[in-house]
Amino acid sequence: TVVARFAPSPTGFLHIGGARTALFNWLYAKKTGGKMLLRIEDTDRQRSTNEAIAAILDGLEWLGLAWDDQTIYQFARADRHAAVARDLLAAGKAYYCYATPAELDAMRELAMKEGRPPRYDGRWRDRDPAEAPEGVKPVVRLKARQDGETVVNDLVQGRVVIPNKDLDDLILLRSDGTPTYMHAVVVDDHDMAVTHIIRGVDHLTNAARQTQIYEACGWAVPAMAHIPLIHGPDGAKLSKRHGALGVDAYRAMGYLPEALRNYLVRLGWSQGDREFFSTEEMIEAFDLSSVGRSPARFDFAKLEAVNGHYIRHADDARLIAAIDTILPHIENGDAIAATLTPKVREQLLKAMPGLKERAKTVLDLIDGARFITAMRPLPMEEKAAALLTPDARSHLGALHTRLAAMPEWSAASADAAVRAEAEAQGVKLGAIAQPLRAAVTGRTTSPGIFDVLDVLGRDESLARIADQIG
Ligand code: GLU
Repeated sequence: TVVARFAPSPTGFLHIGGARTALFNWLYAKKTGGKMLLRIEDTDRQRSTNEAIAAILDGLEWLGLAWDDQTIYQFARADRHAAVARDLLAAGKAYYCYATPAELDAMRELAMKEGRPPRYDGRWRDRDPAEAPEGVKPVVRLKARQDGETVVNDLVQGRVVIPNKDLDDLILLRSDGTPTYMHAVVVDDHDMAVTHIIRGVDHLTNAARQTQIYEACGWAVPAMAHIPLIHGPDGAKLSKRHGALGVDAYRAMGYLPEALRNYLVRLGWSQGDREFFSTEEMIEAFDLSSVGRSPARFDFAKLEAVNGHYIRHADDARLIAAIDTILPHIENGDAIAATLTPKVREQLLKAMPGLKERAKTVLDLIDGARFITAMRPLPMEEKAAALLTPDARSHLGALHTRLAAMPEWSAASADAAVRAEAEAQGVKLGAIAQPLRAAVTGRTTSPGIFDVLDVLGRDESLARIADQIG
């Protein structure tokens, strides 16, 4: 069975590219009935933080990408990494290298002069460790094959061939005995019985080096799929402004996790022109063989459109839950949360069909719902205030009387009353409906005005209108 894994380094938030990698792993695992494991690659002790680990776990949970089994922490496995290196030493597949920093510098300088990438020249490959200079703590290097080539049969990139003479003897253990990233990844993937490595194409050259380690250990190389990177709309490396942000930032911007998932899956993978997938459909349709090779372009406008689609089609109660989820993560969120009494929640639910028609994000929903909890006298937007001319105020005065006389308060009866008033005064519906909207919401846009009156209820609606008729 398939064992995929997501292996983030906790040196920053769960960024959007990482989230997409996790999503592809998760989809592949679900599709094949396999597992997705999570490995936190926290071997860089300086740069790894607990906050970053928490942000990664939180981001995956929010996106609904549940992983299987226990989370593996790479640093905790350092002894095992060292043990494998010792096995390779014993088998003559690795060796101690005592090259001094000055010698390594000289190799780098030579490479620079010759205009090629620096490489270790293998000077301790066959040398007797008895010749070791005093006071130099050795590193452990892989005795990599020098003839032939290393082949990576990548499920996305195809057959990638690298001549072994281009790969130097990489370090497995540093002089302090800690494993390098390259070595730790191989040992962990092997020990976790990973069958499929799905990750960004920026790891493709590592794949060749890691293949050499697998071969030295006599282990089977997992299948690999190196997926294209996410670029900005201009084709350049994704910048912050164009979306290189943490998943938490997307949550705070009001994107629904299901919408972000649907947007992300199509960055690099597609099924014809099909735009929307339920989770089940996505799992059903996903396949590594239809992941393309060219970099995907991140486009905020498209993400917004996808999110708007999801909001329009979401269950009303689900959207209230989404509001609750993001409040702790946005400015003024606590203050807004404090206004959400049971009565306001009821009003919010009633208003939701109208709110979601206009919203691209959960923030739009929150903003659109402000009229519900606004305090009298209502703050007026300038454009709304401009609608409240003396004429408009006198129409509202007459309307107030008519509304107050309604035996039953509902959207339909309010609708009938406003129409009757417009007719009685010989004006167009808008001449009354627009100032009415200004009076009860303080704005020029809102859900349907009769629904607004229904949501606010008789007393609050009449009081807001009365405030404007002087
Ligand atoms: N920890 C690496 C990263 O954050 C990924 C390693 C891998 O997937 O093999 O990019």
